[in-house]
Amino acid sequence: MWFERAYKVVMANQDDTKLSMRTLAIHAGQHPDPVHGAVMTPIVLSSTFAQKSPGEHQGFEYSRSGNPTRQALEGCLAALEGAEHGFAFASGSAASATLLHTLEPGDHVLCGDDVYGGTFRLFDKVMAPMKIDTTFVDMQDLERVQAELRPNTKMIWMETPTNPLLKIFDIKSVAAMGRDAGIPVIVDNTFATPMLQRPLDLGATAVIHSTTKYLNGHSDAVGGAVLTSDAALAERVGFLQNAIGAVPSPFDCYLVLRGLKTLGVRMQQHVVSATELAKRLEAHAAIERVVYPGLPSHPGHELASRQMSGPGGMITVILRGGLEPARQMLEKLNVFCLAESLGGVESLAEHPAIMTHAAVPKAQREAIGLSDGLVRLSVGLEGIEDLWRDLDGALG
Ligand code: PLP
Repeated sequence: MWFERAYKVVMANQDDTKLSMRTLAIHAGQHPDPVHGAVMTPIVLSSTFAQKSPGEHQGFEYSRSGNPTRQALEGCLAALEGAEHGFAFASGSAASATLLHTLEPGDHVLCGDDVYGGTFRLFDKVMAPMKIDTTFVDMQDLERVQAELRPNTKMIWMETPTNPLLKIFDIKSVAAMGRDAGIPVIVDNTFATPMLQRPLDLGATAVIHSTTKYLNGHSDAVGGAVLTSDAALAERVGFLQNAIGAVPSPFDCYLVLRGLKTLGVRMQQHVVSATELAKRLEAHAAIERVVYPGLPSHPGHELASRQMSGPGGMITVILRGGLEPARQMLEKLNVFCLAESLGGVESLAEHPAIMTHAAVPKAQREAIGLSDGLVRLSVGLEGIEDLWRDLDGALG
């Protein structure tokens, strides 16, 4: 594959299947610029590329169809997820929407009952009017997943850990159901990142990412990606990427490539810091419940230990007393910034019911336990004691 060729140039004497994730994050898809020898991937801003004769070009024609900086990012992401093919998009939502365009009117999707609010909105307000129905199901109950499959179910879609309830779904079991039914299983791997979880190794057909989050890691670029080894799906997604055209700018691709180089060390510290804070929060009098897959109290703890190599950097807390205490806590935080998004070096806190998941109707939020006292924390890389003092102080 093109991306293998690209990183083999750097790792000329290595067996690329044995390269560690940290090495791939730094080198895959990239090679010193053949013209000037630049070690870091150049930002190729040109929208178009010269041809020697009509149709005779050097691999690139027009930057919507393909761009050298984007190609390096796509190669790096594909290698990290263990995929043959990678496609980068202008946002995670653009990646999801493009993937959903592989469906046709009359098709049905089975989706996990807890997904990012914007993903719910895509199914509910964009796909439904196009006659593509979605059933939202708690995939912790595998019998229900099997029972909800219909003859016209053409895709299974899940996040794990989910946003914001951090439920853990069994990728291997659901992927097997998808395989038996002959339909693709898509895993949104944004919360875990390939450093902590590789869905394709567990049998999933494709992975999607909001690269806006941990993969970029610095909260300064919006982007998305689809990674798959399924040749037919890749051909269709590649066609739709160009036809729909929701592609990222070369500069944003560069930023994500740059962020990826530290993904390994960042994820390691996110896990260490979140584990420590989750333990302390669990003992705090103002907290009704802490949801963190690394805690033995989490119902998916055992499954997470099997399917992930670390429980991630996201913590969900439910405050005693509901909305008012949650609002007061969020207003008092200083080191944690009250803002949407997650996965950056800086710690963020947010109120999903009012902010990221406002598109999910109140009845549905209540049905899945997304209550008004629920606060989502993205634990960053600041000093752990500074983060703890901030949380403890804001909880009063
Ligand atoms: N998937 C998950 C799990 C998310 O949290 C988000 C955004 O928060 C998205 C997808 C959408 O990504 P973007 O905001 O880059 O469109």
